[in-house]
Amino acid sequence: GQCITHCPTGGLRERDDTAKARAALADKEKITVVQVAPAVRTAWGEYFGLKREEATMERMAGALHRLGFDYVYDTNFAADLTIMEEGNEFLHRLKSGALVRWPMFTSCCPGWVRFLKGQYPELTNQLSTAKSPQQMFGAVAKTWLAKKLDVAPEKICCVSIMPCVAKKAEADLPTMRGESGADVDIVLTTRELVRMMRADHLDPHFIEEEALNSPMGTHTGAGVIFGATGGVMEAALRTAAYVLTGENPNPDAFSEVRTGPGLREATYTVAGIPVRCAVVSGLGNARKLIERLKEGKVQYDFVEVMACPGGCVGGGGQPISAEDEELYGVRGERLYTLDAENPMRFAHENPEVQALYHEYLGEPLGETAHHLLHTDHKAWNMPMQK
Ligand code: SF4
Repeated sequence: GQCITHCPTGGLRERDDTAKARAALADKEKITVVQVAPAVRTAWGEYFGLKREEATMERMAGALHRLGFDYVYDTNFAADLTIMEEGNEFLHRLKSGALVRWPMFTSCCPGWVRFLKGQYPELTNQLSTAKSPQQMFGAVAKTWLAKKLDVAPEKICCVSIMPCVAKKAEADLPTMRGESGADVDIVLTTRELVRMMRADHLDPHFIEEEALNSPMGTHTGAGVIFGATGGVMEAALRTAAYVLTGENPNPDAFSEVRTGPGLREATYTVAGIPVRCAVVSGLGNARKLIERLKEGKVQYDFVEVMACPGGCVGGGGQPISAEDEELYGVRGERLYTLDAENPMRFAHENPEVQALYHEYLGEPLGETAHHLLHTDHKAWNMPMQK
């Protein structure tokens, strides 16, 4: 059935895909590969009364194995990969100077991409061409990972657990496909995962933590903060500074963009270059920012936009509660704690991402990377566009 959600990205209706997931899990011919977005780990335990420290990704891996998934991986891996591509794309645009229009907008939030294309189609070219972590994960799972697992890509059923309703529509886009079909086959929300666990009487209090599978199960602190507003910007700046100077900056050098109102700005000097940044969450704030840009009142080089208040931690597929607004902050803080606790804080330090480039992709923005990990936002139209 369908239920109306509290999705803040435009009253999208949630399509229930749990039956589709059950069918894939029961199909002996299918190899089920599941990825879990960063924001999900901050919220799934709320339903079960788990303490935030107990609601770990590893405990969720235990639950996902019991539901029957063959391999459990982490969207954070693909968030690190997104930074490699998007950070380098930003630097490439920066070097092209006056030839490109500024600012570059992030493209990992499908609620925002749809909003921009529908309301301001003339700005579509300013979106980063990088696919979102969800889609990058799927594209790599059906190529590099299939080879590693020694299975035909068509046998892989790629499932994602997302805090988001708009991610279902993103996975369905005609541009999000490779030679072996859709990058991502089934998208479940955090609420759908919880429903499946409850139906199977799985109580996470009694589920042991289990290791994630490898490769694509390793991530850095830069990947995990993708789930909170400001996280993509911060992660990209960390790696851009490394690429420009050859040295890692202080990982907390860009922390000013973490908290504050739904529209905030900062200018950082990276290798002598001033980078004017803005971070926005909520589409009302995005509209304000675009209007100010159009009026020439502000100028930026790099703008991160998340459609949901607080970023994906406040997504439309997350648990619903009376204290929603407060929870966004608490969930976001959890991600920054996970970042601080991670010995690796830079996307370019992820050894599995390095192996992926070394063994398969070549260079960031290279031919294979471009083919698999980037998209043409102009290749599909919003219903109201001609
Ligand atoms: Fe989905 Fe995150 Fe965008 Fe909300 S902010 S629409 S949860 S991608």
